Amino acid sequence: MLEDRTCLVTGGSRGIGRAIATELGRHGADVVVNYRSSEAAAEAAAKTIDGTDGSAMTVRADVSEYEQVESMRTAVHDRFGPVDVLVNNAGITADRRFEEMTREDWDRVMDVNLGGTFNCTHCLFEDLRDAEEGRLINVSSVVGQQGNYGQANYATTKSGLFGFTRTLALELAAEGSTANCVAPGFVDTGMLETVPGRVKEKIRRRIPLDRFARPEDVAGIVRFLAGEDSSYMTGQILAVNGGMDW
Ligand code: NAP
Repeated sequence: MLEDRTCLVTGGSRGIGRAIATELGRHGADVVVNYRSSEAAAEAAAKTIDGTDGSAMTVRADVSEYEQVESMRTAVHDRFGPVDVLVNNAGITADRRFEEMTREDWDRVMDVNLGGTFNCTHCLFEDLRDAEEGRLINVSSVVGQQGNYGQANYATTKSGLFGFTRTLALELAAEGSTANCVAPGFVDTGMLETVPGRVKEKIRRRIPLDRFARPEDVAGIVRFLAGEDSSYMTGQILAVNGGMDW
């Protein structure tokens, strides 16, 4: 159980982040549902959590903007106090074959997927370090392990999280806090809806378990990483991909 734990999930309004936020709430946590634009979805997620053993607040903040993340920290401290568990989940794609990719496509994905991870971890570093067994959990992707056609920008951000996770694991270890990473395969969310049907079918054929992941398949693993049972694991990458090679 996660009673007395404050967990902040970036991009908690939809998809995988919403499933993670709900799962942590179901286990008794105080959950911060961060979002950028989907206010109604974030409020609905918070309402679901309030109906379980947990309690929730929503905070609008674009994670790629440092000042907005600082304001989010203040709002969270005022309501729940310091953060024990940070889940860096917010992420975007801007897919294009590399020769057509613009510098703007590149920067946009870097700013959210890696810049947002820097901003949130940096703003909350003291909380995580000083917590009783703080937890930093980064949401990467099988695409960071394998690469993927049309996703040079996205794959680079997702591989970047591996080095970031292992380094933060070292920098948090002396205080007993951990940093780990989940690398989901292809998950049935709004992000996958942008992939053409023919490409999706090709991907599905490469998944030994013969289905896309449900957001809940990832959320259960994140809940394990957030809890006590993972105390002696740090710097790890957990693949949640239906058996895909990498
Ligand atoms: P999604 O359904 O598109 O949801 C993305 C979430 O991120 C939304 O809650 C969105 O909030 C939030 N977000 C986007 N930009 C943001 C920003 N600048 N600041 C704050 N929040 C922001 O995506 P998903 O499939 O759940 O993906 C979640 C994470 O899992 C991402 O890091 C993704 O790379 C990773 N992942 C996804 C898959 C997959 O197949 N779906 C596979 C592996 C890994 P708003 O709606 O409020 O803008």
